[in-house]
Amino acid sequence: DSRVARIDAAIRVIPDFPKPGILFRDVTTLLLDHQAFKDSIDIFVERYKDLKIDVVAGIEARGFIFGPPVALAIGAKFVPIRKPRKLPGEVISEEYTLEYGTDCIEMHVGAIQSGERVLIVDDLIATGGTLQAAIKLIERVGAEVVECALLVGLTDLKGHLKLGGKPVFVLVEYE
Ligand code: 5GP
Repeated sequence: DSRVARIDAAIRVIPDFPKPGILFRDVTTLLLDHQAFKDSIDIFVERYKDLKIDVVAGIEARGFIFGPPVALAIGAKFVPIRKPRKLPGEVISEEYTLEYGTDCIEMHVGAIQSGERVLIVDDLIATGGTLQAAIKLIERVGAEVVECALLVGLTDLKGHLKLGGKPVFVLVEYE
């Protein structure tokens, strides 16, 4: 897909953020390039428009940027999956382990119904821990995760291996 080169070029790389040794992929610069931003949404829409997706679930924070335009275009609902204590209603939570310590994500009870077909959207998969927790959360309410869609996949971290064979679609891959 010739659009991918422009998307790739629009993602800025920032060394040593948020800590030394980490090469951070900054997708905010993609948002400054209208064509590249639109192309990234269009590629997702083309892929998912006929897959009977009921819900796009976006992961805080950058899944809140890329998820809603996809949801609107394919006729799906949008559900935010958030960091702890952000959602005001009753939530279900899923903890997951980080390199040091644990983290947690939450979703409103009732936002996703049993049997619904869900597309998860985020900006990037690294270790896959975040997506693994999101999949568990969604499957706990009896819904089906059809695929996870991301702008960036960091291949060296083999995050997809954590997802139990769940399909992952990425626009650009880096080592
Ligand atoms: P994982 O759980 O797969 O290790 O990490 C993925 C999560 O961390 C995603 O929610 C993603 O937004 C964030 N993340 C980790 N590294 C980066 C990075 O280099 N760039 C961006 N934009 N997000 C990152």
